[in-house]
Formats: sequence, C-alpha cells, structure tokens
Amino acid sequence: MPIQSPSGLVQCPIPTPPQVEKAAARLTDDQWQFRKRARQGFTKTDKAGVTTTRLADGACIFLNRPGFHRGAGCALHVGALDAGERFIDWKPDVCWQLPLRLQEHTDDYGHVTSTIREWKRRDWGDGGDEFHWWCTESPDAFVGRVPTYRYLRDELSEMIGGRIYDLLVTQLEARPKKTLLPHPAVRRR
Ligand code: SF4
Repeated sequence: MPIQSPSGLVQCPIPTPPQVEKAAARLTDDQWQFRKRARQGFTKTDKAGVTTTRLADGACIFLNRPGFHRGAGCALHVGALDAGERFIDWKPDVCWQLPLRLQEHTDDYGHVTSTIREWKRRDWGDGGDEFHWWCTESPDAFVGRVPTYRYLRDELSEMIGGRIYDLLVTQLEARPKKTLLPHPAVRRR
C-alpha cells in the first residue's frame, strides 16, 4: 500500500527491492546526487513492515535537486536513460506506474475484475490532500498529441499483460475519434 507521494517530494514504497537494488548499484556520482549518503542503505522499513526509500534533506534520496548538474529529477530515471533501458526496469513500481492505477476486486464467487484508472489524491489516504501539486489535476497534463494508451504502452503492457493490451488497443481504435467526456481538469479551463 503506497503511503506517500512518489512525486519525489517525499519517499516511495519499494515493493520490488531487488530490481531497485540492482539499478541503484549501477548509478554513478554523475547520475545520483546523494549516492555517497546512500552508502548506509537507501531504504528503511517501519514497524509495520513497509519499506520506503530513505530521505535526504526531506525528500526521496533518489531525487536529484534543482542545481544538480544533470538536472532535477529521479536518479534512477537518469540511469535508465543513460543505459538505453526502460525506466520501468529501474524504478520502484509505484513510481513508473503513476499516473496509472491498477485496482483488482474479487467478488463473492472469486471472479477478479481489474480496473485501470488514474491515481487520485484520495488514493494516498489522509496525506493525499496535502500534496501541493498533483499532476493530473492540471490541464497541462492533457496537451499531448499521442493518446495515453499509446504513450504509456510499456506501462500498460506491464500492468495488464501484452494480450490484454492488444485487445484494449483494438477496442479503442474501433471507437469514434472524439472525446465523449473531457477530463475534469480540462473542463475547468
Ligand atoms: S524513486 Fe525516483 S520517482 Fe520514486 S519517489 Fe524517489 S525520486 Fe521519485
């Protein structure tokens, strides 16, 4: 269960430590501002058993800050791009999945319904309303010319599987090319 924002302002849950550990070991000082501080480890686990990235100066230890010579942003993302690899294979799950959220519901008969939708502030629990910014609340998030299901192909394929992704594309491309109900962030414009 995610407990804080993966925006880089705080810290993020790491459900797949081996993947992130391997990636972190490949990062260099050129790519990761706080690499030396991470010598003592870059995760911590609380009493409830939830593992998160450690903080460095109040934010995720992987977050390079404004003024860093490689620019502000996630060091794992920088490492993946430098290596010519998918950032999906370097970052914690919730970090690369955002703004997509996969929910699975099992009914009384054991039938599982999977839903992909947008992460909302409310999904973060009580702390969600405290984020000073949330990407999909801004109209700026809706200016891309490539449809989300194409732009986020790798992410969707990882989350729902390649076969289901192909079915999704077939269905979406058979529909009329118009927006039936604009996102609320765009409607407010
Ligand atoms: S691992 Fe990267 S994307 Fe995730 S919270 Fe830290 S800086 Fe942000």
